[in-house]
Amino acid sequence: MAWYVEQRQLPDPRVDADVERSCTSKQQYASEDDAHAHALMNGMGDVLYSYECRYCGFWHLTRRPPPR
Ligand SMILES: [Zn+2]
Repeated sequence: MAWYVEQRQLPDPRVDADVERSCTSKQQYASEDDAHAHALMNGMGDVLYSYECRYCGFWHLTRRPPPR
């Protein structure tokens, strides 16, 4: 996991804690299609956005549009 620490300009322990919590509490999907398929199955296809997590490398679902 050292690669993302090196990329960050200002390491923030609070962010790491948030990420660790979200990555372990959120479902992890192997691909965007997998994530989106689960959103659709839950009837949330119009509500949830899938995004590739820059921390764990898997895909998560979020209600917020991911920043580009
Ligand atoms: Zn993650």
